[in-house]
Amino acid sequence: MPMSPAFQKRLHPVLSQIADHFDTPFHIYDEAGIRETGRRLIEAFEKIQPFREYYAVKALPNLRILEIMQDMGFGFDCSSIPELVLSRMAGGRGEDIMFTSNNTTPEEFAAARAEGGSIINLDDISLVEKLSPFPELISFRYNPGPRRTGNAIIGNPVESKYGLSHDQVVPAYQMAIKKGAHRFGLHTMVASNELSYRNIVETTRMILDIAAWVGRSTGIQFEFVNIGGGIGIPYQPDQGIFNLKALAEDIEGLFRAFQSVNGYQPGLSMECGRFMTGPHGVLVTRAINHKSIYREYVGVDACMSALMRPAMYGAYHHITVPGRNNGTPAKVVDVVGALCENNDKFAVQRSLPAIEEKDLLVIHDTGAHGHAMGFNYNGRLQPKELLLRTDGTVELIRREQRLDDYLATQTYDPDVIQPH
Ligand SMILES: *Cc1c(COP(=O)(O)O)cnc(C)c1O
Repeated sequence: MPMSPAFQKRLHPVLSQIADHFDTPFHIYDEAGIRETGRRLIEAFEKIQPFREYYAVKALPNLRILEIMQDMGFGFDCSSIPELVLSRMAGGRGEDIMFTSNNTTPEEFAAARAEGGSIINLDDISLVEKLSPFPELISFRYNPGPRRTGNAIIGNPVESKYGLSHDQVVPAYQMAIKKGAHRFGLHTMVASNELSYRNIVETTRMILDIAAWVGRSTGIQFEFVNIGGGIGIPYQPDQGIFNLKALAEDIEGLFRAFQSVNGYQPGLSMECGRFMTGPHGVLVTRAINHKSIYREYVGVDACMSALMRPAMYGAYHHITVPGRNNGTPAKVVDVVGALCENNDKFAVQRSLPAIEEKDLLVIHDTGAHGHAMGFNYNGRLQPKELLLRTDGTVELIRREQRLDDYLATQTYDPDVIQPH
């Protein structure tokens, strides 16, 4: 079930007023829904302490959204300098930030360690020698390879570039101990947009087994295990929601079992991005053209610069047309943007109510990996972002890109060399 009835109820009565004031296209996010999901997450894992969610900044790197995360007591999962800067601007300090590297530069490590530092999560054993001085708290990302199967978005672990191989894990912690580390975490992430809670239970079982094994080999007691993000949301109307309660109950059982064998219990960390904000955002765009050739097309004023997922993964995003009788009389259309790429389609052969020009279309579930993936191919600029606040007011939280922004990287002092 896409966009929640509660969000629809808050948005629909005021949508045309918002569109008239701010102009389309825009993403709009639902603060009440985000906070509700945050509360559900905290409540579900109440019995595992300490528990902490580090919001995956890449999912929705907007300062106002990050401030909401900070206000809920969440940390930030970052993997680039701009993400670190944003997290600190939102109030994240020191161990509020988990820096998960991948193919990291020395400059990125320096930024992760500056300004009160962060929890460094190393992606490769070779990076141990590149961190100097070595931090007192260190985490490593584990890639299970053929021991797990992964899924469509993140891929097969054997082919995935992330993390340490199974055989490298114990040597990596031994090296870290020699370098003076004395606080430890362990991280993994093997699935993305996973709707089966059992799969994430299996990931937790796997990472706790690794923690126990590393503990036996090195004497380490882990401060936390981090099972990454990857909790899925139902993009299709006939998909059920993720069973968070069942996940938390099974994980509690695993933690109790770990405690009885190993004599201690680590904390639990998560890095949900999509689950936290995905369903609480929509892209609102206006129908501007109709075209009837071999297929019927509805042209809208947004394009894939605002939402890449359909083009990139063939992802389904539910579309509704408020004010039109959703369902009947239906017409089968492709909903398209203006970019010169034939995959610039928000919907392909979708049955939608008859759409007239100037109608507003609501494209659901764009609150994560939506605006964030935007790009400027074909000179297409990215849309604005709005926040529907809990008090019912609507705030501009990112303006649209303008021509000046687009041209800024081509306006600079001349720099020419003659190589010899
Ligand atoms: C992308 C990513 C996440 C968030 O993934 P979601 O599917 O949005 O929950 C968390 N952690 C890491 C390391 C990631 O790369």
